[in-house]
Amino acid sequence: MASGRKGRIVSISGNMAVVEVDGVVVQNEVAYILHGDEHLKSEVIRVKGIRAELQVYESTSGICVGEEVEFTDELLSVELGPGLLGQVFDGLQNPLPHIAEKHGFFLKRGIYLEALPKDWEWDFTPQVQRGDNVRAGDRLGSVPEKMFNHAILVPFNLAGSFEVVYIAERGTYSFKKPIARLMDAGGREHEVYMKQVWPVKAPIRAYAERLKPTEPLITKMRIIDSLFPVARGGTYCIPGPFGAGKTVLQQLTSRHAEADIVIIAACGERAGEVVETLKTFPELTDPRTGKPLSDRTVIICNTSSMPVAARESSVYTAVTIAEYYRQMGLNVLLLADSTSRWAQAMREMSGRLEEIPGEEAFPAYLESRIASFYERAGLVRLNDGTTGSLTIGGTVSPAGGNFEEPVTQATLKVVGAFHGLSRERSDARRYPAIDPLISWSKYRSFIRGDQKDDGHKILDRSNEVSQMMKVVGEEGISLSDYVDYLKGEFFDFAYLQQNAFDPVDEATSEERQSYLFNIAHNIMTSEFEFEDKADALHWFQVLRQRFRTWNSEEWKEAGFDRLEADILSILADKRKKEQHA
Ligand code: ADP
Ligand code: MG
Repeated sequence: MASGRKGRIVSISGNMAVVEVDGVVVQNEVAYILHGDEHLKSEVIRVKGIRAELQVYESTSGICVGEEVEFTDELLSVELGPGLLGQVFDGLQNPLPHIAEKHGFFLKRGIYLEALPKDWEWDFTPQVQRGDNVRAGDRLGSVPEKMFNHAILVPFNLAGSFEVVYIAERGTYSFKKPIARLMDAGGREHEVYMKQVWPVKAPIRAYAERLKPTEPLITKMRIIDSLFPVARGGTYCIPGPFGAGKTVLQQLTSRHAEADIVIIAACGERAGEVVETLKTFPELTDPRTGKPLSDRTVIICNTSSMPVAARESSVYTAVTIAEYYRQMGLNVLLLADSTSRWAQAMREMSGRLEEIPGEEAFPAYLESRIASFYERAGLVRLNDGTTGSLTIGGTVSPAGGNFEEPVTQATLKVVGAFHGLSRERSDARRYPAIDPLISWSKYRSFIRGDQKDDGHKILDRSNEVSQMMKVVGEEGISLSDYVDYLKGEFFDFAYLQQNAFDPVDEATSEERQSYLFNIAHNIMTSEFEFEDKADALHWFQVLRQRFRTWNSEEWKEAGFDRLEADILSILADKRKKEQHA
């Protein structure tokens, strides 16, 4: 919507345009550069007197000083309503498959498509009556969207209490038809439609209160759920060097984590990788329902070939859509890959604005921007007493895998769990390459606290011996040290490592993890006698091989009991031998 205020470009550099305006300009207001019949979307990121500095969400090639700019009075916003699920958008919420069909894979600049076309129709069922009192975030009714009851909520921007003066009866309506009219205390009426718009940079807060996240979000990844758990409504990050497995881990999580809705923000990674995701994703099935995984997913993607400014908007678009589904009482998981690309975009814009640079030329506000992104996660109690959660997991890709750099450090300050991938582990093909010696979580695991601590202790101890062996060799350490080392290796190999490409091993339920952990714990905390190191090595190898077999396809037919019987018989044989010796 044009406000009538116009300006002219006085300078342009990369994705930043400086504009002189006649009139007042608002921070974060959307403006369009009028270049022939192309209208390029931009956002005001700094105002200085009559000059506004704009970040342009499009390539600016061919744009010249003197060209006209039109201001809109509106903040950068997204459309929220039924029909988001299953879609793939770019950072400005343009639906990408439509683009692929009609405009080649990437949209021609200056073309903006409706995320939720006005004439789409939905079957609305009212849940309030005339005369009811409602406020922002309350349910007016619902429509079926894929396998969910998509709640139609009182728009989040309506402040105060309202009386329902009209509610549509059960029926099929398009987005053009109001489904309710609400009257405010001053007697003014507001029409409500099945979609609303919301500015992406403002958190949606139409709920009663924030609660402390306590329940684990089961990811079905053993090392995460057992040792470094994530909470429903919590936050975590996955820093790791190039090729260590960040994207594979995010993809596994998107399929297997016990979340109702998954929002994926693929931000600034290589174009080929994103296109690959877009092609393979629709073919994946949801292991829980057998239906297409895309039925409960929204993908927002920006590749490194798109303008940097659009990376920022993709992160905000994703988190806003995620908050929207949380308002319906659902458990939402947002996966951002990679937040480093977003941070690099911030650095680039900050450089163009000639701001005083912080560490490694990132802007001084890097930390606060990252913090406010993760703070949008959370477990909330809605107005009707039910709860909804938004869990956020972001990857970080520091150059050379150096975690001391600003983006990793800023992220570590705010998240509740840290899954650090190490080059050493990925080179050794110990997947997932989450390093148990450096990772941590502040959240509660479903594994008993003392047992979990034993697990950590054994890994630390095993690593200590392993470091010793590097210096003095295997001959230089005692048999009992060597057994400690083998126990840690056993735990790592048999329990923590998980093959993403084995149909059984790729996901382990909570029940099965508890069961396996118990047996592994029993072995790790028992004393065994061995004749010599070769004897010990052999015995642990048999044991871990047995565990591995049971983590793969063969397990399916036999079940838990056989595993236990098997392991117990190995242990019993061992004890018998010890007594005879
Ligand atoms: P990153 O995103 O960190 O650059 P990727 O997730 O693309 O790395 O992983 C790179 C490669 O490592 C994958 O193509 C795959 O071959 C291997 N890999 C990563 N994680 C696993 C895993 N859990 N199981 C088996 N192989 C893996
Ligand atoms: Mg990746």
